Amino acid sequence: MKRNIIAELLKNPAFGTPVCVKGWVRTRRGNKNIAFIALNDGSTIHNIQIVVDLPQFDEEYLKGITTGACIRVNGMLVESLGQGQSAEIHAKEIEIYGTADPGAYPLQKKDHSLEFLREIAYLRPRTNTFGAVFRIRHHLSYAIHDYFNKQGFYYFHTPIITASDAEGAGSMFRVTILDAENTPKTAAGKVDYSQDFFGRHTNLTVSGQLEGELGAMALGGVYTFGPTFRAENSNTPRHLAEFWMIEPEVAFFDNNDNMTLAEDFLKQVISYVMERCKDDIEFLNNRYDTELIERLKFVLENKFIRLTYTEGIEILEKSGRKFEFPVYWGADLQSEHERYLVEEHFRCPVIMTDYPKEIKSFYMKQNDDGKTVRGMDVLFPKIGEIIGGSEREADYDKLLNRMNELNMSQESLWWYLETRKFGTAPHAGFGLGFERLMLFITGMSNIRDVIPFPRTPKSAEF
Ligand code: ATP
Ligand code: MN
Repeated sequence: MKRNIIAELLKNPAFGTPVCVKGWVRTRRGNKNIAFIALNDGSTIHNIQIVVDLPQFDEEYLKGITTGACIRVNGMLVESLGQGQSAEIHAKEIEIYGTADPGAYPLQKKDHSLEFLREIAYLRPRTNTFGAVFRIRHHLSYAIHDYFNKQGFYYFHTPIITASDAEGAGSMFRVTILDAENTPKTAAGKVDYSQDFFGRHTNLTVSGQLEGELGAMALGGVYTFGPTFRAENSNTPRHLAEFWMIEPEVAFFDNNDNMTLAEDFLKQVISYVMERCKDDIEFLNNRYDTELIERLKFVLENKFIRLTYTEGIEILEKSGRKFEFPVYWGADLQSEHERYLVEEHFRCPVIMTDYPKEIKSFYMKQNDDGKTVRGMDVLFPKIGEIIGGSEREADYDKLLNRMNELNMSQESLWWYLETRKFGTAPHAGFGLGFERLMLFITGMSNIRDVIPFPRTPKSAEF
């Protein structure tokens, strides 16, 4: 018999029909005559109740049905008289696919801490919390593709292995097949990367933006959605060493168009997920963060505040607040500053623009004041920076000057400069950290809890 999906059975129960479900046992209770099994198959946060009339079965065999076991049940779908459920299954036939020794199964008891569950990341998708988080992760990914597809953007695959290390030299993972114990050396005593696989020094990408720009200069609007790697040793609840990034890049967009896109995009995907994942979001709201749904609605209903970095610094200076990191014009904003503006001053998402050029990347469009660049960061409640973007410098000479000022070698980026030589155009784009958006939508407070297998300093076992 074909397997029925539990989410479907609970949504549209055809009472009185035979069904077949397969899933993992969450709990088993009852007495000598009757057993009630709560079964979950991952399709919904809700379990379906299986009612077993024990004397009709081989009771010795059914002893294998304990929390964590995987079973198949054929039976009759009937209206449930119990509270909190619409349908239950009266079992006719049960097969145990796999038992889970109650003495050894790590998820035997309920209500484990998130810290403990991180240590058993290979099993935590079996919990209500992580089932909800990973279903949301799926729907959010889908919503993102759906949004850009409807806007006429092309999904552009940028490389994961790159030779350009201009963006953040110290924080990249090296990709090499050279023998670590016995690296070939040049005459000058340096590592001889010409003998490496690609004949040059290569890294895992920290961003697909530079290549994304090449796509935009031909296809108009593109976006990337792929894994990104940063070897920054920052053990914060908002940083991963391997995270997913979404980077739209659009020809003929200025920074205002860029901001409008970012705001519309965020609102659309959040609203999509709120609709699709009602039960899961409700669960997370009730369990971890009772202001979650309110916060999500608030973002959908309010226009984001737009202000310049200079205005933001003034507000922070006048706030009378003692910050851990000092505030002055030219300082890179820390999460505490961003959250003060968003959560206390404006009480609204903020898009900050026109940052000092010293704290932003070389490729941002230079303003006429000679001091600031046309960057834009979207700052969210509870998270701080969720998006970083800018209009790009489209002028060859200005871009080259800035690279020289920063002592950047043209050697690994000559191809990027070429775009400004041949048919250059105004363009803009941004990078959104997928897991930062996941934090916002799920209300989870640690980024390790919104990706199935987090990669952080000293942690990559499974
Ligand atoms: P932060 O100051 O928070 O470290 P950043 O300035 O390094 O961020 P960008 O280089 O602008 O970030 O990257 C674009 C987006 O990628 C950020 O807005 C953020 O959402 C996300 N992001 C950056 N670094 C990480 C990380 N280590 N883990 C998860 N997401 C990240
Ligand atoms: Mn960073």
